[in-house]
Amino acid sequence: MFRLSKNIIQYTFKRQQRYYSTVNNVGSGNNKYDVVIVGGGLVGSTMACTLGSNESTSHLKVALIEASPHQPLYPLSEIPDIRTISFNNNSIQLFKQIGIWEDLESTKRIQSFNTVKVWDSSGFPGIDFDDSDSMGYIIENRIVTSSLLDKIKSNYKNIDIKQSMVKGIGREDDNGLPENYVQLSNDEKVFGKLIIGADGGNSVIKKELKIPSMGRNYNQKAVVCTIKLGDSVTPCTTLFQRFLPTGPIALLPLANNYANIIWSTNNLHANYLLSLKDEEFKDVLEQSFLKGLNTDQIGLLNHLFNLNPSGLSGQEIYMPPIEKVVSKRASFPLRLDHTQQYSSNENPGIVLIGDASHIVHPLAGQGVNLGLQDVQSLSAIIKDSVQSGHSISDPMMLKQYEQQRKAENLKMMASIDTLFNMFTNNSLPIVVLRNLGMSILNHIPLLKSLIIGVSKGVTPSTTPK
Ligand SMILES: Cc1cc2nc3c(=O)[nH]c(=O)nc-3n(C[C@H](O)[C@H](O)[C@H](O)COP(=O)(O)OP(=O)(O)OC[C@H]3O[C@@H](n4cnc5c(N)ncnc54)[C@H](O)[C@@H]3O)c2cc1C
Repeated sequence: MFRLSKNIIQYTFKRQQRYYSTVNNVGSGNNKYDVVIVGGGLVGSTMACTLGSNESTSHLKVALIEASPHQPLYPLSEIPDIRTISFNNNSIQLFKQIGIWEDLESTKRIQSFNTVKVWDSSGFPGIDFDDSDSMGYIIENRIVTSSLLDKIKSNYKNIDIKQSMVKGIGREDDNGLPENYVQLSNDEKVFGKLIIGADGGNSVIKKELKIPSMGRNYNQKAVVCTIKLGDSVTPCTTLFQRFLPTGPIALLPLANNYANIIWSTNNLHANYLLSLKDEEFKDVLEQSFLKGLNTDQIGLLNHLFNLNPSGLSGQEIYMPPIEKVVSKRASFPLRLDHTQQYSSNENPGIVLIGDASHIVHPLAGQGVNLGLQDVQSLSAIIKDSVQSGHSISDPMMLKQYEQQRKAENLKMMASIDTLFNMFTNNSLPIVVLRNLGMSILNHIPLLKSLIIGVSKGVTPSTTPK
């Protein structure tokens, strides 16, 4: 890897003779930037904050363009928002590095979890894994995004937050040097030496680059809402997930005895769940988490394979009582998608990060975590370019970013898709295999490390020993 980076640096150094200096060319107009980030969601805002907080890149002039208005962190809503994220420890580390962790802590709206319980609908034992330390934190999306934008506004004078919709990209000559721009909805052009598409799953930048992508529609929606748990002296620190024949249902604990429900299911069932009254939905929710499907078929399998389901069969599992549903329900369509490249040879100087280049099923809670790893990789490459006096948009550098991230993203996407296929296939042989697998999981290191690794944000071969 070191040799590869060195070669790339030498190669770009030769190419650099034809490039202008990133630093000297700063600020030649109020619509000219070193870096233009399109999309101020979790990934784009973290990208901006990472560039602003690093000594080597803090002088870069950056535009962060976001379609929605900036909502300051305070005042906080009384009831947690329905969109929450389970951040793994790598993402938490990044928040600490860029200085927003204290802001997040001071909201008292972050909840760590140290146990994950995963079980199946058939009544067979599941798995239960824990860590003495925190495995991650569950935090509302809104709180993290607002903290990032507040930090940018108050600390980084070189970063402009522009509220506008980007409708396209283009390229114009600037004193003999071609420069990329993004076009805003009011037709204003914002030029950037490097344009970063962080504009999510329906990315305009991805469409404009015409990079083909591969994936599939799960024909599922995630129904999400906030619930209040029954009073408890100790906060719930367990993340629960049960695989039902229609898809996984998860309970993510939140601070102050709230929890977030993410119920992935086929479109028809999702529409039914959305149509229920709160009380009816609560009943269905409790049943779906706690009722076992002790059919004769499963009993026979138990007998045939001499299994003694003493683990997480649904009936025995302890879950905190649900007091009531406290928010409206909303749904999100689910799909798998991966662009074949993260930058295009035809449009140099433009790169994709986060959901703009890869979308995964939420069953493993890894979408943003992957996007934040993209941020770490790309910002390190930009930092190296600046430190060595190279162009921040050199195509070789952007290819290096793609090389670093593509393999990791694909590995995680394949692991998540395998888990999805394994747990939503209800043909009898698969049910048998799956449940045998679950029962003897502790003796199958690969399968166990797949589930644990995916939950922690690392795939088996990269799981640290
Ligand atoms: C139900 C559910 C639960 C999930 N849970 C988890 C979890 O627990 N952990 C996890 O890691 N991931 C989770 N994910 C995945 C996660 O939500 C996504 O991976 C994440 O939101 C991607 O962030 P992003 O910033 O790349 O894109 P987005 O969040 O889509 O943000 C893109 C931003 O760009 C802006 N934008 C879009 N187009 C334009 C334009 N043309 N001009 C200007 N601005 C534009 C949008 O307004 C938006 O703010 C979950 C997903 C779902 C559906």
